Amino acid sequence: FEGMTIIELAKRSGESIHALQNILTNVGENIGSEFDSLSIDIAELVAMEIGVNVRRLHSCEGAAVLPRPPVVTVMGHVDHGKTSLLDALRSTSVAAREAGGITQHIGAFVVKMPSGASITFLDTPGHAAFSAMRARGAAITDLVVLVVAADDGVMPQTIEAIAHAKDANVPIVVAINKCDKPAADPERVKVQLASEGLPLEEMGGDIQVIEVSAKSKSGLDNLEEALLLQAEMMELKARIDGPAQAYVVEARLDRGRGPLATAIVKAGTLVCGQHIVVGAEWGRIRAIRDTAGKLREDATPAMPVEIEGLKGLPMAGDDITAVESEERAKMLSAGRKKKLEKDRLLKIDEGKEVSPDPLE
Ligand code: GDP
Ligand code: MG
Repeated sequence: FEGMTIIELAKRSGESIHALQNILTNVGENIGSEFDSLSIDIAELVAMEIGVNVRRLHSCEGAAVLPRPPVVTVMGHVDHGKTSLLDALRSTSVAAREAGGITQHIGAFVVKMPSGASITFLDTPGHAAFSAMRARGAAITDLVVLVVAADDGVMPQTIEAIAHAKDANVPIVVAINKCDKPAADPERVKVQLASEGLPLEEMGGDIQVIEVSAKSKSGLDNLEEALLLQAEMMELKARIDGPAQAYVVEARLDRGRGPLATAIVKAGTLVCGQHIVVGAEWGRIRAIRDTAGKLREDATPAMPVEIEGLKGLPMAGDDITAVESEERAKMLSAGRKKKLEKDRLLKIDEGKEVSPDPLE
C-alpha cells in the first residue's frame, strides 16, 4: 500500500475515484488530486470503509532474518491434563527456576532449554481461544501439542483439536499424558490416533508421539526436544528489525495500570513509546514487561510481553500495528470501530447470531 495513489486504489478496489475522494473527505483528509499518494494508514482506512480486506506489507528488504523460537498451543480433551502439562512445562523453565518459581501469569511463557534454545507456550489452552485467534486471522501458533490421556484415549475434543490444527495447517506433536497411571495404555491411544488419520512417526508417518506424565513430570524433556525438532524442520525465521507484526494473546483490565495486553511479536520489534493500533483500540506503549515482570525497552519475535498504555481492552487475536502519530492511531482505531459496528449490524440484518468474544 505504501505510496499508493487514489487512482491505483480505485483500480484495485473497483471503487470509483469519486467515491474514494468522498471517503477521504469524510475522514478529514485533505486531498489534492487523484495522483496524490496515500499514506499507508489512510489507504487502510479507506480500504476498510469500502470493505476491502487489507494486509499490510512492510517493505523491509535487507532486514536481518534470524531463526526464532516456536510458539506452541496445547489442545486436547477436557481433563486430559492440558493445564497440568503447561504447569509442569513451566516448572522446567530455567527462568522459572531462577525466579524461584515465581513467574507472572501473562498468558504465555518461555521454556529455555539447557542448549540455549527456547520454546514459547501459550497459556490459554482450549479450542475456543485457538478459534478466536484464527477467526481474526492471527497465525500465532506454529505448533499444537495434542494432549491425550493414556487411560482415557481419544475423545470428542481430541478429534475436534485434530480438525482445528489441520484446518489451520499447524503441525501436531502428540503428548500421551498420565502415563504414570496403572490404567495407562499408550499403545491403544496410538492405534486410535492412527485411525483418526494421524500418520504417527513410529508407523511410518511424520507425527511425533511422546509419552509423558504431567504429575510425575516424566517425559517432559522428550516432549520439548520433539517440539524443537519439529520447529527446526519448519525453519521458523523472523525479521528482527523494522516495524512489528504482533498479536494479542490475552487482555485484561488492571485497576491501577489500565488495559493490559499480552502480546507476541511475529516479526520486527515493538518498542516502548510507540503509538499503536490494537484491533480497534489504540494507545501508546507506556511499558513493556517480560514474563518475569521485568521492564524492557522492546520486544522481539516469539517473546511474550505484557503491554501497558492502551486506551481500551483489545481481544485475543487482535493485531498490533505501530503507527507514526497519536492522530493516526486514533483515526485508524475510529475507522476500525466503525467497520466493526457496520459488520455487527450487517450480521443482525442477516439474522445471524452475534457471539461475544469466544475466549475461555
Ligand atoms: P485439563 O482439563 O486438560 O486442563 O486437565 P487438568 O490439567 O485440569 O487435569 C485434569 C485432572 O487430571 C486433574 O485432576 C489432574 O491432577 C489430573 N492429571 C493431569 N495430568 C496427570 C498425570 O500426568 N497423571 C495423573 N495421574 N493425573 C494427571
Ligand atoms: Mg485446564
